[in-house]
Amino acid sequence: MGPRLKVIDNAPASSIAKDGRRNFVHPADVSGKFTRIRRVVFAVLIGIYLATPFIQVGGKPMVFLDVAHRRFHLFGASFNAHDFWLVFFLVTGVGFGLIFLTTLFGRVWCGYACPQTVFLEGVYRRVERLVEGNRNERIRRNQGPWNFDKIWRKTVKLAIFAAISVGLAHVFLAYFVSFPSMWTMVTSPPNENLEAFVWTTAFAGVTFFNFAWFREQVCLIICPYGRLQSVMTDRDTFNVAYDVKRGEPRGKAKEEGVGDCVDCRRCVQVCPTGIDIRNGLQLDCVGCASCIDACDEVMDKLGRPRGLIRYDSPNGLEGKKRRFLRPRVWVYGAFGLLGLVVASIATSQRVPFEAHILRTAGAVFVVSDEAVRNPVRFHVVNKRDEPIVLKVEDRSDPGVERDPVIEEIRLAPGESRYVAFMLVVKREAMRPGLRARYTLSREGERANVEIPVLGPVGRE
Ligand code: SF4
Ligand code: SF4
Repeated sequence: MGPRLKVIDNAPASSIAKDGRRNFVHPADVSGKFTRIRRVVFAVLIGIYLATPFIQVGGKPMVFLDVAHRRFHLFGASFNAHDFWLVFFLVTGVGFGLIFLTTLFGRVWCGYACPQTVFLEGVYRRVERLVEGNRNERIRRNQGPWNFDKIWRKTVKLAIFAAISVGLAHVFLAYFVSFPSMWTMVTSPPNENLEAFVWTTAFAGVTFFNFAWFREQVCLIICPYGRLQSVMTDRDTFNVAYDVKRGEPRGKAKEEGVGDCVDCRRCVQVCPTGIDIRNGLQLDCVGCASCIDACDEVMDKLGRPRGLIRYDSPNGLEGKKRRFLRPRVWVYGAFGLLGLVVASIATSQRVPFEAHILRTAGAVFVVSDEAVRNPVRFHVVNKRDEPIVLKVEDRSDPGVERDPVIEEIRLAPGESRYVAFMLVVKREAMRPGLRARYTLSREGERANVEIPVLGPVGRE
């Protein structure tokens, strides 16, 4: 049987063929400065991604997104659904931080730190190279018949991919249920934790499909960040770029009157998205800098200066003045910083409990011969991971009584509770503007709540 997937070599440098079919990209191995930096970054990030759910801070996992109980533990602090507004500032800070970085260095996030790149290049592609060999061997085998060699290598590779995907899915699960619960689930029959089992299986399946087959198509088709990069960059953004002035016209190394590009296509062969950077900056470029290392190797062999492909801005490539700090960089940086500062201040000043006083649904007041009664309720939320006791201090206007008198409210960790009672005012004491006021407190933390008392004034 012939190959079902075309390889990129003679295609017009893209992972999509002219007829719309997928060109499966087989990037060649490369070494060099940026490849080494990327390997170190990948190792550190993989360590962080995998270790985070297992590291304890203040007796809780460093990151534990307990969606089932709407409790979120981050770096020792606990949040609940009522703190969700903080996410706005956090996302604003991180979002503008990313835009700031993109304006300076293009898709450096994609090439060095995005989990898609980190796991594809740092784990799955390495396994593929180990089992199936280098680019030429992989292409030759893919184009060849389904013999024993091809079958066992594909089987072993996919089995390892499946095992890694299942492992990653369980680490992912640990972010949402914590490691001890994840372990209990893993060691129990699936029907005891059916929901978690289905989610984990689905995540493992998607991970396997993504890294075994879909790969760079996530960056090219699905990820919105790549589509937006053209509005974040300008003529002063440092991207991976080919120096046309120096490289063109292309020609053989010993030819007279040609540029430095010898048209060896090494830069295309190492590209994980299968593009030719010599055609200019393209949406498909994920900024991995592999083509820089590949071309530098070629230049070294030819005894020519490195940097035919390099990090440079369009203005720099044209010989114009390079500008690093420019108005949009300051604006994006300021917004990013503002979001992160506000999120930090708001988090540090968060009251660890919430208290409100609300009217009970239904009648606003009830009148009898002796008194006016307003049904109300406290809504109190304990944001801590320990039980608390809130003292209730009455600071109401004279004449406003409570029935029953609530002196304290006990709350379990993370508990949200309504406590109903009546505001009672004698008919002759009822007057406009009467208010009930309470202070709920514990160990120096206080929340003041108040509500107007409603009802007829005087007797009719
Ligand atoms: S690696 Fe360098 S010399 Fe070779 S084709 Fe690419 S730009 Fe030209
Ligand atoms: S063009 Fe260069 S930097 Fe861009 S994705 Fe391809 S190899 Fe990476």
